Amino acid sequence: MTTDLTRSTAAELADLLTRREVSAREVTQAHLDRTRAVDGPVHAYLHVDEEGALAAAADIDARRAGGEELHALAGVPIAVKDVVVTKGLPTTAGSRILQGWVPPYDATLVTRLRAAGMPILGKTNMDEFAMGSSTEHSAYGPTRNPWDLGRIPGGSGGGSAAAIASFQAPLAIGTDTGGSIRQPAAVTGTVGTKPTYGGVSRYGLIAMASSLDQAGPCTRTVLDAALLHEVIGGHDVMDSTSLTAPVPAVVAAARRAEVTGLRIGIVRELTGEGFQPGVQARFEEAVAHLVDAGAEVVEVSCPSFTSALAAYYLVMPSEVSSNLAKFDAMRYGLRVWPEGVADASAEQVMAATRDAGFGDEVKRRIILGTYALSSGYYDAYYGSAQKVRTLIARDFAAAFEVADVLVSPTSPTTAFAFGEKMSDPLSMYMQDIATIPANLAGVPGMSVPSGLADEDGLPVGFQILAPAMADERLYAVGAALEARLTAAWGGPLLARAQDLTAQSIAPTEALS
Ligand code: GLN
Repeated sequence: MTTDLTRSTAAELADLLTRREVSAREVTQAHLDRTRAVDGPVHAYLHVDEEGALAAAADIDARRAGGEELHALAGVPIAVKDVVVTKGLPTTAGSRILQGWVPPYDATLVTRLRAAGMPILGKTNMDEFAMGSSTEHSAYGPTRNPWDLGRIPGGSGGGSAAAIASFQAPLAIGTDTGGSIRQPAAVTGTVGTKPTYGGVSRYGLIAMASSLDQAGPCTRTVLDAALLHEVIGGHDVMDSTSLTAPVPAVVAAARRAEVTGLRIGIVRELTGEGFQPGVQARFEEAVAHLVDAGAEVVEVSCPSFTSALAAYYLVMPSEVSSNLAKFDAMRYGLRVWPEGVADASAEQVMAATRDAGFGDEVKRRIILGTYALSSGYYDAYYGSAQKVRTLIARDFAAAFEVADVLVSPTSPTTAFAFGEKMSDPLSMYMQDIATIPANLAGVPGMSVPSGLADEDGLPVGFQILAPAMADERLYAVGAALEARLTAAWGGPLLARAQDLTAQSIAPTEALS
């Protein structure tokens, strides 16, 4: 048994709990203590629920003592991205406009976590309304990357990834509209999975772009991701786009970790030029490991992927402009009275509230989306983008005729420094060049750690993509690669990250 419970994987904790070698209370307390020790500088959490998490843990301990048959993950605590609504727990989506809002209901995935007996540690930091690749757009100050506190942890779900990478939680929930689970996983040396669109209910996710949004697991190992995937996945009558098919057998695939005879397609458009040399080098090594494990390599071309970013930045803001219209100061959240207007109209209150409550990036996208949907431009912009989306889906279909999975680096660069891309939105958007095609086509994707870049010693992610509803292939390939790489490294990559308790640095609020 490891002496430090926070270093254990969720699968190991589940075993210890089942064998009653530790209590859920001990496991939960260990993670809360770790948060007290390191989250000042990291700022992974917007809200920590010590009382609620310990009460849920105590309940599990009592039920286990009473001989009740419990879920395998009962007593394993989890952190939840703040874009997912949690009954009785503040939920802000990283925005001022929702400051102080306490939802009256749970998202379906949260209901499932609670039913499995998983204590919720708290809500994690994120770019406002999940718009960004660095958490610098959070209204509450950024999260720092545990590998280097001067760098971004990725985004929008940088808080969930950093919580996992700094051992404050064994598991976390993220959401991925264009890469917000996978890119943070890549730059923090963790595992992130975006399931097939509709694989996890969207009921209770604060919507960014409904046709792209998908919740999924943020973990330190592929098996842990599979275990969590099976808890949160599956049909939900509250989400009309949720799939009715059973959840793919991801845990079995992760345990088998078998790739013999599997055809791995290298996407020509998502490698080489534009990718940092160390990122490209770790990608090529990972492919070699898979070949060594028995996989075959084919090269595929997906020409429409070069237009994916452009299509995404029309489809996504269009949906954003509609989804964010509900933040009108009338029903919940912030209400700002226009200055010096005694008898302000509802419209004036809405305008003042939205002006004060939304950050620049959110406003930029609402304006862009409203423009793209306006009657004179609808066909030229939104209509064209939808056509590109169809072409991308066709490219995937053709590629999956010759390959069982597609692979690429997850992100073109390793973690960049704070402020580096804030003045140039386009350079920030480029971070998602390799992750966005999956969202536009609804196919599942995963990022697994593939090593450290030579030039900066920072983590690099390896992306695996599979056909819709074939999520188990991600886990087979991810687990096979993970097994080979951890053997080559002599242990998990995260064991090489710095010891945060030895750091003395001002809290992140000081950054802005
Ligand atoms: N970084 C992308 C964006 O800013 C993706 C966001 C996401 O997946 N939520 O839109």
